[in-house]
Amino acid sequence: MTDIVVIGTGAVGLPTAYYLAQEGMRVTVVDKEPAPAQGSFKAAIGGVRATHSEPPKIAICQDSLSIFSKWQEKTGTDIGWKNGGYCFPAYRPQEEDLLKSMLTVQHKHNLRIDWLDAESVKKVVPGINGNGLLGGTLSIDDGQASPLLFASSLTEECTELGVEFRLGEQATRIVTRDDRVAGVETDRGVIGTENAVIAAGSRASQIAATAKIQVPVLPDSHEAGVSMPIEHFLDPLIVDLRPGPEGKTANFYFGQTKDGSVIFCYTPSPLIPGEDRRCTSQFLPVITNRLLQMIPRFKNLVIRRLWRGLYPSTPDGSPILGRAPNVSGLYLAVGMCGQGFMMGPGIGRNLAHYIATGKTYIEAKLFESLSLQRDFYARKEVLK
Ligand SMILES: Cc1cc2nc3c(=O)[nH]c(=O)nc-3n(C[C@H](O)[C@H](O)[C@H](O)COP(=O)(O)OP(=O)(O)OC[C@H]3O[C@@H](n4cnc5c(N)ncnc54)[C@H](O)[C@@H]3O)c2cc1C
Repeated sequence: MTDIVVIGTGAVGLPTAYYLAQEGMRVTVVDKEPAPAQGSFKAAIGGVRATHSEPPKIAICQDSLSIFSKWQEKTGTDIGWKNGGYCFPAYRPQEEDLLKSMLTVQHKHNLRIDWLDAESVKKVVPGINGNGLLGGTLSIDDGQASPLLFASSLTEECTELGVEFRLGEQATRIVTRDDRVAGVETDRGVIGTENAVIAAGSRASQIAATAKIQVPVLPDSHEAGVSMPIEHFLDPLIVDLRPGPEGKTANFYFGQTKDGSVIFCYTPSPLIPGEDRRCTSQFLPVITNRLLQMIPRFKNLVIRRLWRGLYPSTPDGSPILGRAPNVSGLYLAVGMCGQGFMMGPGIGRNLAHYIATGKTYIEAKLFESLSLQRDFYARKEVLK
C-alpha cells in the first residue's frame, strides 16, 4: 500500500511526485517507459515564461520561474537555467496590437514586461532583421532551462526523498470501489492506494476513461532541433507570431541555451493530430528559412539533432488540474499543451499541497478555474 500513485514521469508527473514526497506522502510513480521523462518532457526546448494571457497560467508559471531560478541554489545541481527573458518581435500591426492588448492583464499580475521600439529590440536581439520591424515585448523575468538536466535532477531528488519508481510498467486501469480509488492496475498487477494522479500526457484520456472520466486531451506532433554551440550572443527566447510565407508554419520560436546551442521549433499549420513521433524531412528546410529570414547571420549554423514530440492539447489551451469528478482520491494533471515544461514545477507544487492540505499557493479561484468542470469553449489562451 502506498499513499499515492502518480501515473507518468513526465514534465508534470515528476515534479508532482517530488512535491508530494516533500509533503510527507509515500509516493509511487509508474511509467510505461524504461526510464523517466521519455514522453514529451525530453522533447521540450526548455522555454519558461509567465507571459501568458490567462491569469491561472500566469500565476502557475510565476511559481515555476521561482522554482527554476532557485533550483541550483537549493539542490546544488545545474539545470542550464538562463534568465534571458522572452522577446516577441512584431512586424505587422496585428501582432503589435495583440501583444499590446495583453500588457494590461500581464502588468496587473506584476509581470515585468514592456513594449520596446524597433531600435531597442535590435539591441536585445543582435542581428535581427530590421526590415518592417515595429518593436516588440520583452519580459525580463522569463528564461529557459535544460529539460534533460531538469528531468535527471528531479529523478535524483525524488529518489533521495524515497519515491518508488516503477518503470517499464504500464498503468491499465484506475481501480475504484464505492466511487473511491482503491488502486492502480498495471500490466504487472495492482498497486494498492487510495489516491492517484493521472499525469499521463498524451495518454491521459485513455487512462481517465477507465474511471469513466472524459478528459478532452488530444495529442498533436511538433518537431524541434538544436545546433552546435556558438559564441553567446542572444539572451531572450524569441517568438515570431506571424504565420510563415511558406504556408506550413503558424509561428516559430528559438533561443540560445546556456551552453551556446541554438534551439528551435515551429507550430505546424495545419496542426498534425496523432502520436507519430518520427521526424520528417520537411521540418529542417522550413525552419531554416524562417530562422534565416529573421537572423541572417544564422547561415553558418551547424544543426546537430532534430526530434519530434507531442503536445497533449486541450480545446482552450489551458491545463486540467485538480480533483476528478465523482471518484474520490483521483486527481488530474493533464492537458499541458505546448507548455508542460514551464508549468510542471508550479503545477507540481500547488497540486501536491492541494492533495495534502486542501490548499494551494496560488489563489484558490485561479487553481479551481482549471478544473475539468469548466467550459472549454468559453475562452482561449492567446499565446497557446
Ligand atoms: C518540440 C516540442 C517543444 C516543446 N517546447 C516546450 C517549451 O519550450 N516549454 C514548455 O513548457 N513546453 C514545451 N513543450 C511541451 C511539453 O514538452 C509538454 O507540454 C509536456 O512534456 C507535457 O507534460 P506531461 O507530463 O503532461 O506529459 P509527458 O511529459 O509526455 O509525460 C507523460 C508520461 O506518462 C507516461 N505514460 C503515459 N501513459 C501511461 C500509462 N498508461 N502508464 C504509465 N505511464 C504512462 C509516458 O510514458 C510519459 O513519460 C514542447 C513540446 C514539444 C513536442
